[in-house]
Amino acid sequence: MAYFDRTPQTNGDETLKIAMIGGGYVGLVSGACFAAFGTEVAIVEADQTRLQALQQGRIPIYEPGLNALVAQGVANGNLSFGADLAAAVKGADAVFIAVGTPTRRGDGHADLTYVYAAAEQVARCLSGYAVVVTKSTVPVGTGRRIAAIIEHVVPGLDVDVASNPEFLREGSAIRDFMQPDRVVVGCDAPRAREVLGRLYAPLMTRADVMIYTGIETAELIKYAANSFLAMKVTFINEMADLCERLGANVKEVAHAIGLDARIGPRFLQPGPGFGGSCFPKDTLALVRIAQEAGAPSRLIEAVVAVNDARKAGMSARIIGACGGSVRGKRIAILGLTFKPDTDDMRDSPSIPIVARLVEDGAQVRVFDPKGMDQARPLLPPNVTYCGSSDEAMEGADALVIVTEWDEFRAIEPDALRARMAGDVVIDLRNLFDPRSMQAAGIQYHGVGTTAR
Ligand code: NAD
Repeated sequence: MAYFDRTPQTNGDETLKIAMIGGGYVGLVSGACFAAFGTEVAIVEADQTRLQALQQGRIPIYEPGLNALVAQGVANGNLSFGADLAAAVKGADAVFIAVGTPTRRGDGHADLTYVYAAAEQVARCLSGYAVVVTKSTVPVGTGRRIAAIIEHVVPGLDVDVASNPEFLREGSAIRDFMQPDRVVVGCDAPRAREVLGRLYAPLMTRADVMIYTGIETAELIKYAANSFLAMKVTFINEMADLCERLGANVKEVAHAIGLDARIGPRFLQPGPGFGGSCFPKDTLALVRIAQEAGAPSRLIEAVVAVNDARKAGMSARIIGACGGSVRGKRIAILGLTFKPDTDDMRDSPSIPIVARLVEDGAQVRVFDPKGMDQARPLLPPNVTYCGSSDEAMEGADALVIVTEWDEFRAIEPDALRARMAGDVVIDLRNLFDPRSMQAAGIQYHGVGTTAR
Protein backbone atom coordinates (compact mmCIF):
# COMPACT_ATOMS: atom_id res chain seq x y z
CA MET A 1 0.00 0.00 0.00
CA ALA A 2 1.31 3.46 -0.87
CA TYR A 3 0.60 4.59 2.65
CA PHE A 4 3.65 2.73 3.91
CA ASP A 5 5.96 4.77 1.72
CA ARG A 6 5.46 8.09 3.48
CA THR A 7 8.52 10.07 4.45
CA PRO A 8 9.32 9.49 8.13
CA GLN A 9 8.48 12.47 10.33
CA THR A 10 11.16 13.92 12.49
CA ASN A 11 11.24 16.19 15.48
CA GLY A 12 14.30 18.18 14.47
CA ASP A 13 16.75 15.29 14.28
CA GLU A 14 14.51 13.07 16.38
CA THR A 15 11.61 10.88 15.30
CA LEU A 16 8.28 12.23 16.54
CA LYS A 17 6.96 10.17 19.40
CA ILE A 18 3.38 9.83 20.60
CA ALA A 19 1.46 7.87 23.21
CA MET A 20 -2.07 6.72 22.37
CA ILE A 21 -4.24 6.01 25.41
CA GLY A 22 -6.81 3.41 24.35
CA GLY A 23 -6.34 0.72 21.70
CA GLY A 24 -9.95 0.46 20.45
CA TYR A 25 -11.31 1.24 16.98
CA VAL A 26 -10.00 4.81 17.03
CA GLY A 27 -6.78 4.40 19.05
CA LEU A 28 -5.65 1.33 17.16
CA VAL A 29 -6.42 2.64 13.67
CA SER A 30 -5.00 6.12 14.22
CA GLY A 31 -1.99 4.74 16.11
CA ALA A 32 -1.21 2.29 13.29
CA CYS A 33 -1.63 5.06 10.70
CA PHE A 34 0.67 7.48 12.55
CA ALA A 35 3.20 4.63 12.82
CA ALA A 36 2.97 4.14 9.06
CA PHE A 37 4.08 7.79 8.66
CA GLY A 38 7.26 6.99 10.60
CA THR A 39 6.09 8.30 13.97
CA GLU A 40 7.01 6.24 17.04
CA VAL A 41 3.68 5.18 18.57
CA ALA A 42 3.14 3.53 21.95
CA ILE A 43 -0.45 2.36 22.42
CA VAL A 44 -1.54 1.96 26.03
CA GLU A 45 -4.48 -0.41 26.53
CA ALA A 46 -6.08 -1.05 29.92
CA ASP A 47 -8.11 -4.11 28.94
CA GLN A 48 -5.88 -7.14 29.58
CA THR A 49 -7.56 -9.43 27.06
CA ARG A 50 -7.38 -6.80 24.32
CA LEU A 51 -3.78 -5.96 25.20
CA GLN A 52 -2.68 -9.59 25.17
CA ALA A 53 -4.25 -10.10 21.77
CA LEU A 54 -2.45 -7.04 20.40
CA GLN A 55 0.87 -8.10 21.88
CA GLN A 56 0.46 -11.55 20.32
CA GLY A 57 -0.22 -10.04 16.91
CA ARG A 58 -3.97 -10.67 16.94
CA ILE A 59 -6.25 -7.75 16.07
CA PRO A 60 -9.23 -7.79 18.42
CA ILE A 61 -11.53 -5.89 16.04
CA TYR A 62 -12.44 -6.39 12.40
CA GLU A 63 -11.38 -3.50 10.20
CA PRO A 64 -10.29 -4.05 6.57
CA GLY A 65 -6.52 -3.61 6.11
CA LEU A 66 -5.78 -3.16 9.81
CA ASN A 67 -3.98 -6.49 10.30
CA ALA A 68 -1.38 -5.65 7.68
CA LEU A 69 -0.93 -2.06 8.84
CA VAL A 70 -0.41 -3.10 12.48
CA ALA A 71 1.95 -5.93 11.51
CA GLN A 72 3.98 -3.51 9.41
CA GLY A 73 4.21 -0.98 12.28
CA VAL A 74 5.27 -3.63 14.78
CA ALA A 75 7.81 -5.16 12.35
CA ASN A 76 9.54 -1.84 11.68
CA GLY A 77 9.57 -0.96 15.36
CA ASN A 78 7.32 2.10 15.12
CA LEU A 79 4.31 0.57 16.87
CA SER A 80 4.19 -1.02 20.31
CA PHE A 81 1.52 -2.02 22.81
CA GLY A 82 1.66 -2.02 26.58
CA ALA A 83 -0.09 -1.28 29.85
CA ASP A 84 2.65 0.94 31.24
CA LEU A 85 1.40 4.49 30.73
CA ALA A 86 4.50 6.07 32.30
CA ALA A 87 6.79 4.31 29.83
CA ALA A 88 4.60 5.24 26.86
CA VAL A 89 4.33 8.90 27.85
CA LYS A 90 8.03 9.36 28.61
CA GLY A 91 9.52 11.67 25.99
CA ALA A 92 6.28 11.81 23.99
CA ASP A 93 5.67 14.93 21.91
CA ALA A 94 1.93 14.33 22.12
CA VAL A 95 -0.33 12.12 24.22
CA PHE A 96 -3.63 11.23 22.55
CA ILE A 97 -6.63 10.25 24.63
CA ALA A 98 -8.71 7.79 22.56
CA VAL A 99 -10.80 6.11 25.24
CA GLY A 100 -14.55 5.48 25.06
CA THR A 101 -17.15 8.19 25.80
CA PRO A 102 -20.36 6.15 25.99
CA THR A 103 -23.74 7.56 26.96
CA ARG A 104 -23.96 8.09 30.70
CA ARG A 105 -26.66 5.93 32.24
CA GLY A 106 -29.85 7.85 32.90
CA ASP A 107 -29.27 11.31 31.46
CA GLY A 108 -27.91 11.06 27.91
CA HIS A 109 -24.70 13.00 28.65
CA ALA A 110 -21.38 11.64 27.42
CA ASP A 111 -19.72 9.66 30.21
CA LEU A 112 -16.29 11.25 30.65
CA THR A 113 -15.08 8.96 33.43
CA TYR A 114 -12.48 7.26 31.21
CA VAL A 115 -11.30 10.53 29.69
CA TYR A 116 -10.76 12.25 33.04
CA ALA A 117 -9.13 9.15 34.55
CA ALA A 118 -6.74 9.04 31.58
CA ALA A 119 -5.97 12.78 31.96
CA GLU A 120 -5.09 12.28 35.63
CA GLN A 121 -2.87 9.30 34.85
CA VAL A 122 -1.12 11.23 32.08
CA ALA A 123 -0.52 14.23 34.35
CA ARG A 124 1.24 12.02 36.89
CA CYS A 125 3.53 10.55 34.22
CA LEU A 126 4.56 13.63 32.23
CA SER A 127 8.00 15.13 32.76
CA GLY A 128 8.83 17.37 29.79
CA TYR A 129 6.61 19.36 27.44
CA ALA A 130 3.81 17.49 25.65
CA VAL A 131 0.51 18.24 23.97
CA VAL A 132 -2.37 16.33 25.55
CA VAL A 133 -4.85 15.72 22.75
CA THR A 134 -8.44 14.48 22.97
CA LYS A 135 -9.18 12.21 20.03
CA SER A 136 -12.23 10.83 21.81
CA THR A 137 -15.49 12.63 21.01
CA VAL A 138 -15.98 14.90 24.02
CA PRO A 139 -18.50 17.61 24.91
CA VAL A 140 -17.60 21.27 24.65
CA GLY A 141 -15.65 22.31 27.73
CA THR A 142 -13.86 18.97 28.21
CA GLY A 143 -10.51 20.25 26.96
CA ARG A 144 -10.56 23.12 29.46
CA ARG A 145 -11.54 20.67 32.20
CA ILE A 146 -8.64 18.38 31.26
CA ALA A 147 -6.25 21.35 31.52
CA ALA A 148 -7.67 22.10 34.98
CA ILE A 149 -7.35 18.46 36.07
CA ILE A 150 -3.72 18.33 34.94
CA GLU A 151 -2.97 21.59 36.73
CA HIS A 152 -4.70 20.29 39.86
CA VAL A 153 -2.88 16.92 39.87
CA VAL A 154 0.58 18.33 39.11
CA PRO A 155 0.65 22.15 39.29
CA GLY A 156 2.89 23.96 36.84
CA LEU A 157 3.35 21.16 34.28
CA ASP A 158 4.50 22.34 30.86
CA VAL A 159 1.58 21.08 28.73
CA ASP A 160 -0.91 22.32 26.17
CA VAL A 161 -4.30 20.69 25.73
CA ALA A 162 -5.75 20.30 22.23
CA SER A 163 -8.83 18.80 20.63
CA ASN A 164 -8.35 16.66 17.52
CA PRO A 165 -11.67 14.92 16.89
CA GLU A 166 -11.58 11.79 14.75
CA PHE A 167 -13.84 11.41 11.72
CA LEU A 168 -12.89 7.90 10.56
CA ARG A 169 -15.73 5.52 9.74
CA GLU A 170 -15.57 1.88 10.73
CA GLY A 171 -15.24 -0.24 7.60
CA SER A 172 -13.13 2.35 5.77
CA ALA A 173 -11.19 3.64 8.77
CA ILE A 174 -7.67 3.46 7.33
CA ARG A 175 -8.59 5.23 4.11
CA ASP A 176 -10.54 7.85 6.07
CA PHE A 177 -7.56 8.49 8.32
CA MET A 178 -5.01 8.54 5.49
CA GLN A 179 -7.14 10.60 3.09
CA PRO A 180 -9.26 12.77 5.35
CA ASP A 181 -11.70 15.40 4.14
CA ARG A 182 -10.21 17.56 6.92
CA VAL A 183 -8.15 17.34 10.10
CA VAL A 184 -9.48 19.57 12.84
CA VAL A 185 -7.09 20.84 15.50
CA GLY A 186 -8.57 22.90 18.29
CA CYS A 187 -5.89 24.74 20.22
CA ASP A 188 -4.63 28.29 20.51
CA ALA A 189 -1.06 27.49 21.62
CA PRO A 190 1.38 27.86 18.69
CA ARG A 191 3.69 25.14 20.06
CA ALA A 192 0.85 22.58 20.19
CA ARG A 193 -0.33 23.55 16.69
CA GLU A 194 3.20 23.05 15.41
CA VAL A 195 3.52 19.55 16.94
CA LEU A 196 0.14 18.47 15.53
CA GLY A 197 0.91 20.08 12.19
CA ARG A 198 4.12 18.04 11.95
CA LEU A 199 2.37 14.84 12.98
CA TYR A 200 -0.17 15.24 10.21
CA ALA A 201 2.30 16.62 7.64
CA PRO A 202 2.37 13.36 5.60
CA LEU A 203 -1.33 13.92 4.85
CA MET A 204 -0.84 17.32 3.34
CA THR A 205 -1.98 16.51 -0.15
CA ARG A 206 -4.24 19.57 -0.03
CA ALA A 207 -3.28 22.80 1.64
CA ASP A 208 -6.73 23.23 3.19
CA VAL A 209 -6.82 19.83 4.91
CA MET A 210 -5.73 21.22 8.29
CA ILE A 211 -8.31 23.35 10.06
CA TYR A 212 -7.08 25.15 13.17
CA THR A 213 -9.76 26.41 15.53
CA GLY A 214 -10.28 27.19 19.18
CA ILE A 215 -10.72 24.16 21.43
CA GLU A 216 -14.49 24.64 21.98
CA THR A 217 -15.09 24.95 18.25
CA ALA A 218 -13.19 21.74 17.50
CA GLU A 219 -15.14 19.88 20.17
CA LEU A 220 -18.44 21.09 18.72
CA ILE A 221 -17.47 20.34 15.08
CA LYS A 222 -17.48 16.61 15.78
CA TYR A 223 -20.96 16.62 17.33
CA ALA A 224 -22.29 18.94 14.63
CA ALA A 225 -20.96 16.65 11.87
CA ASN A 226 -22.43 13.45 13.32
CA SER A 227 -25.73 15.11 14.18
CA PHE A 228 -26.08 16.49 10.67
CA LEU A 229 -25.46 13.07 9.12
CA ALA A 230 -27.89 11.43 11.56
CA MET A 231 -30.45 14.08 10.57
CA LYS A 232 -29.97 13.25 6.88
CA VAL A 233 -30.52 9.53 7.52
CA THR A 234 -33.59 10.28 9.62
CA PHE A 235 -34.99 12.56 6.92
CA ILE A 236 -34.82 9.88 4.23
CA ASN A 237 -36.29 7.32 6.64
CA GLU A 238 -39.30 9.58 7.10
CA MET A 239 -39.55 10.08 3.34
CA ALA A 240 -39.51 6.28 2.97
CA ASP A 241 -42.52 5.99 5.29
CA LEU A 242 -44.27 8.69 3.31
CA CYS A 243 -43.48 6.92 0.02
CA GLU A 244 -45.05 3.73 1.37
CA ARG A 245 -48.25 5.60 2.20
CA LEU A 246 -48.36 7.38 -1.15
CA GLY A 247 -47.21 4.59 -3.44
CA ALA A 248 -44.04 6.54 -4.34
CA ASN A 249 -40.51 5.13 -4.59
CA VAL A 250 -37.95 6.45 -2.10
CA LYS A 251 -34.99 5.22 -4.15
CA GLU A 252 -36.04 7.48 -7.00
CA VAL A 253 -36.73 10.35 -4.61
CA ALA A 254 -33.28 9.94 -3.00
CA HIS A 255 -31.55 9.70 -6.37
CA ALA A 256 -33.28 12.79 -7.73
CA ILE A 257 -32.75 15.00 -4.69
CA GLY A 258 -29.18 13.72 -4.24
CA LEU A 259 -28.22 15.02 -7.69
CA ASP A 260 -28.66 18.52 -6.30
CA ALA A 261 -25.12 19.49 -5.25
CA ARG A 262 -26.54 21.32 -2.23
CA ILE A 263 -27.97 18.03 -0.96
CA GLY A 264 -25.58 15.34 -2.24
CA PRO A 265 -26.31 11.62 -2.68
CA ARG A 266 -24.69 10.16 0.44
CA PHE A 267 -26.54 9.16 3.60
CA LEU A 268 -29.81 9.05 1.67
CA GLN A 269 -30.38 5.29 1.90
CA PRO A 270 -33.41 4.47 4.05
CA GLY A 271 -33.13 1.65 6.56
CA PRO A 272 -34.02 0.42 10.03
CA GLY A 273 -32.76 3.57 11.81
CA PHE A 274 -29.20 4.56 12.60
CA GLY A 275 -27.18 2.66 15.19
CA GLY A 276 -23.50 2.16 15.87
CA SER A 277 -20.94 3.44 18.30
CA CYS A 278 -21.28 7.12 17.38
CA PHE A 279 -24.56 8.53 15.99
CA PRO A 280 -26.88 7.43 18.83
CA LYS A 281 -24.61 8.61 21.64
CA ASP A 282 -23.40 11.75 19.85
CA THR A 283 -26.89 13.00 18.93
CA LEU A 284 -28.02 12.41 22.51
CA ALA A 285 -24.97 14.21 23.85
CA LEU A 286 -25.52 17.18 21.51
CA VAL A 287 -29.11 17.43 22.75
CA ARG A 288 -27.84 17.66 26.33
CA ILE A 289 -24.98 20.05 25.46
CA ALA A 290 -27.44 22.39 23.69
CA GLN A 291 -30.00 22.22 26.51
CA GLU A 292 -27.36 23.07 29.10
CA ALA A 293 -26.06 25.93 26.99
CA GLY A 294 -29.58 27.40 26.86
CA ALA A 295 -29.84 26.94 23.08
CA PRO A 296 -31.80 23.68 22.73
CA SER A 297 -31.62 21.87 19.40
CA ARG A 298 -35.24 21.01 18.67
CA LEU A 299 -34.10 19.51 15.38
CA ILE A 300 -31.70 16.98 16.92
CA GLU A 301 -34.16 16.24 19.73
CA ALA A 302 -36.61 15.23 16.99
CA VAL A 303 -33.94 13.18 15.20
CA VAL A 304 -33.28 11.18 18.40
CA ALA A 305 -37.00 10.61 19.04
CA VAL A 306 -37.82 9.69 15.43
CA ASN A 307 -34.89 7.28 15.22
CA ASP A 308 -35.71 5.60 18.54
CA ALA A 309 -39.30 5.08 17.38
CA ARG A 310 -38.10 3.74 14.05
CA LYS A 311 -35.77 1.17 15.59
CA ALA A 312 -38.50 0.07 17.98
CA GLY A 313 -41.00 -0.15 15.10
CA MET A 314 -38.92 -2.42 12.87
CA SER A 315 -39.98 -5.61 14.63
CA ALA A 316 -43.66 -4.64 14.21
CA ARG A 317 -42.98 -4.21 10.48
CA ILE A 318 -41.48 -7.71 10.34
CA ILE A 319 -44.31 -9.24 12.37
CA GLY A 320 -46.85 -7.50 10.12
CA ALA A 321 -45.18 -8.88 7.00
CA CYS A 322 -45.37 -12.36 8.57
CA GLY A 323 -49.16 -12.09 8.81
CA GLY A 324 -49.41 -10.58 12.31
CA SER A 325 -47.63 -13.28 14.32
CA VAL A 326 -44.21 -14.92 14.32
CA ARG A 327 -45.02 -17.50 17.01
CA GLY A 328 -43.45 -20.81 16.03
CA LYS A 329 -42.13 -19.35 12.77
CA ARG A 330 -38.56 -19.76 11.64
CA ILE A 331 -37.07 -16.35 10.87
CA ALA A 332 -33.67 -15.95 9.21
CA ILE A 333 -31.80 -12.73 10.05
CA LEU A 334 -28.93 -11.79 7.73
CA GLY A 335 -26.61 -9.13 9.11
CA LEU A 336 -26.24 -8.19 12.76
CA THR A 337 -23.62 -5.44 12.86
CA PHE A 338 -24.79 -1.83 12.66
CA LYS A 339 -23.26 -1.55 9.19
CA PRO A 340 -21.17 -3.74 6.87
CA ASP A 341 -17.39 -4.19 7.02
CA THR A 342 -17.19 -3.98 10.79
CA ASP A 343 -17.78 -6.36 13.68
CA ASP A 344 -19.14 -3.52 15.83
CA MET A 345 -22.51 -4.34 17.39
CA ARG A 346 -22.88 -1.22 19.53
CA ASP A 347 -26.48 0.05 19.33
CA SER A 348 -27.14 -2.07 16.25
CA PRO A 349 -30.78 -2.12 15.05
CA SER A 350 -30.52 -5.93 15.00
CA ILE A 351 -30.50 -6.07 18.82
CA PRO A 352 -34.09 -4.87 19.47
CA ILE A 353 -35.34 -6.69 16.35
CA VAL A 354 -34.00 -10.10 17.41
CA ALA A 355 -35.05 -9.56 21.05
CA ARG A 356 -38.66 -8.80 20.07
CA LEU A 357 -38.94 -11.68 17.58
CA VAL A 358 -37.65 -14.15 20.17
CA GLU A 359 -39.99 -12.67 22.79
CA ASP A 360 -42.89 -13.21 20.39
CA GLY A 361 -42.05 -16.89 20.02
CA ALA A 362 -40.11 -16.94 16.74
CA GLN A 363 -37.25 -19.40 16.11
CA VAL A 364 -34.56 -16.94 15.10
CA ARG A 365 -31.58 -18.08 13.01
CA VAL A 366 -28.87 -15.47 12.47
CA PHE A 367 -25.79 -15.04 10.33
CA ASP A 368 -23.30 -12.17 10.08
CA PRO A 369 -19.96 -12.39 8.22
CA LYS A 370 -17.94 -10.76 11.03
CA GLY A 371 -20.18 -9.83 13.95
CA MET A 372 -21.23 -13.20 15.43
CA ASP A 373 -18.82 -13.16 18.40
CA GLN A 374 -19.69 -9.60 19.35
CA ALA A 375 -23.41 -10.37 18.93
CA ARG A 376 -23.60 -13.37 21.27
CA PRO A 377 -23.57 -11.46 24.58
CA LEU A 378 -26.11 -8.94 23.23
CA LEU A 379 -28.75 -11.30 21.80
CA PRO A 380 -31.16 -13.60 23.69
CA PRO A 381 -29.70 -17.03 24.54
CA ASN A 382 -32.07 -19.12 22.41
CA VAL A 383 -30.96 -17.73 19.05
CA THR A 384 -29.40 -20.16 16.54
CA TYR A 385 -26.05 -18.97 15.14
CA CYS A 386 -25.48 -20.24 11.59
CA GLY A 387 -22.25 -20.70 9.67
CA SER A 388 -23.51 -19.13 6.44
CA SER A 389 -26.42 -17.23 4.95
CA ASP A 390 -27.57 -20.45 3.23
CA GLU A 391 -27.72 -22.25 6.56
CA ALA A 392 -29.71 -19.41 8.13
CA MET A 393 -32.20 -19.33 5.26
CA GLU A 394 -32.72 -23.13 5.17
CA GLY A 395 -36.38 -23.88 5.89
CA ALA A 396 -37.09 -20.30 6.99
CA ASP A 397 -40.63 -18.95 6.87
CA ALA A 398 -39.30 -15.41 6.48
CA LEU A 399 -35.98 -13.74 5.75
CA VAL A 400 -34.97 -10.35 7.14
CA ILE A 401 -31.99 -8.38 5.80
CA VAL A 402 -30.74 -6.12 8.59
CA THR A 403 -27.22 -5.20 7.41
CA GLU A 404 -26.19 -4.64 3.79
CA TRP A 405 -23.09 -6.86 3.59
CA ASP A 406 -21.97 -7.13 -0.04
CA GLU A 407 -22.05 -10.93 0.01
CA PHE A 408 -25.83 -10.87 0.58
CA ARG A 409 -26.33 -8.96 -2.68
CA ALA A 410 -25.29 -12.10 -4.57
CA ILE A 411 -28.23 -14.12 -3.21
CA GLU A 412 -30.34 -15.25 -6.20
CA PRO A 413 -34.13 -14.93 -5.75
CA ASP A 414 -34.86 -18.43 -7.16
CA ALA A 415 -32.22 -20.08 -4.97
CA LEU A 416 -33.55 -18.17 -2.00
CA ARG A 417 -37.12 -19.25 -2.68
CA ALA A 418 -36.02 -22.87 -3.09
CA ARG A 419 -34.11 -22.85 0.18
CA MET A 420 -36.82 -21.24 2.28
CA ALA A 421 -40.00 -22.94 3.48
CA GLY A 422 -41.96 -19.69 3.31
CA ASP A 423 -41.96 -16.83 0.83
CA VAL A 424 -41.63 -13.63 2.89
CA VAL A 425 -38.56 -11.38 2.50
CA ILE A 426 -38.26 -8.19 4.53
CA ASP A 427 -35.37 -6.22 3.10
CA LEU A 428 -34.60 -3.40 5.55
CA ARG A 429 -31.72 -2.16 3.35
CA ASN A 430 -33.28 -2.30 -0.13
CA LEU A 431 -30.55 -4.71 -1.18
CA PHE A 432 -32.62 -6.66 -3.68
CA ASP A 433 -34.49 -5.75 -6.83
CA PRO A 434 -38.21 -5.92 -5.92
CA ARG A 435 -39.28 -7.09 -9.40
CA SER A 436 -36.83 -10.03 -9.50
CA MET A 437 -37.99 -11.04 -6.05
CA GLN A 438 -41.65 -10.86 -6.99
CA ALA A 439 -40.93 -12.78 -10.23
CA ALA A 440 -39.51 -15.60 -8.09
CA GLY A 441 -42.79 -15.77 -6.18
CA ILE A 442 -41.53 -13.93 -3.13
CA GLN A 443 -43.62 -11.55 -1.02
CA TYR A 444 -41.04 -8.81 -0.98
CA HIS A 445 -41.11 -5.92 1.49
CA GLY A 446 -38.51 -3.21 0.86
CA VAL A 447 -38.24 0.14 2.63
CA GLY A 448 -40.10 2.99 0.96
CA THR A 449 -40.58 1.05 -2.24
CA THR A 450 -43.59 -1.15 -1.64
CA ALA A 451 -47.02 0.45 -1.33
CA ARG A 452 -48.86 -0.94 1.67
P1 NAD B 1 -13.44 1.56 22.09
O1 NAD B 1 -14.33 1.25 23.23
O2 NAD B 1 -13.36 0.63 20.92
O3 NAD B 1 -11.95 1.77 22.60
C1 NAD B 1 -11.60 2.45 23.78
C2 NAD B 1 -10.43 1.69 24.41
O4 NAD B 1 -9.86 2.48 25.44
C3 NAD B 1 -10.85 0.36 25.05
O5 NAD B 1 -10.10 -0.69 24.49
C4 NAD B 1 -10.53 0.57 26.55
O6 NAD B 1 -10.12 -0.62 27.18
C5 NAD B 1 -9.42 1.59 26.48
N1 NAD B 1 -9.22 2.38 27.70
C6 NAD B 1 -10.13 3.01 28.46
N2 NAD B 1 -9.54 3.68 29.47
C7 NAD B 1 -8.20 3.47 29.34
C8 NAD B 1 -7.05 3.92 30.06
N3 NAD B 1 -7.16 4.73 31.12
N4 NAD B 1 -5.84 3.50 29.66
C9 NAD B 1 -5.73 2.70 28.58
N5 NAD B 1 -6.77 2.26 27.85
C10 NAD B 1 -7.99 2.65 28.22
O7 NAD B 1 -13.89 3.00 21.59
P2 NAD B 1 -13.73 3.65 20.12
O8 NAD B 1 -14.81 3.18 19.22
O9 NAD B 1 -12.31 3.52 19.70
O10 NAD B 1 -14.04 5.18 20.45
C11 NAD B 1 -13.15 5.99 21.19
C12 NAD B 1 -13.59 7.44 21.08
O11 NAD B 1 -13.50 7.87 19.71
C13 NAD B 1 -15.05 7.69 21.48
O12 NAD B 1 -15.15 8.95 22.08
C14 NAD B 1 -15.78 7.69 20.16
O13 NAD B 1 -16.97 8.45 20.19
C15 NAD B 1 -14.77 8.33 19.24
N6 NAD B 1 -14.92 7.96 17.83
C16 NAD B 1 -15.21 6.68 17.48
C17 NAD B 1 -15.33 6.34 16.13
C18 NAD B 1 -15.69 4.94 15.71
O14 NAD B 1 -16.04 4.75 14.55
N7 NAD B 1 -15.61 3.95 16.58
C19 NAD B 1 -15.12 7.32 15.15
C20 NAD B 1 -14.77 8.61 15.55
C21 NAD B 1 -14.67 8.92 16.89
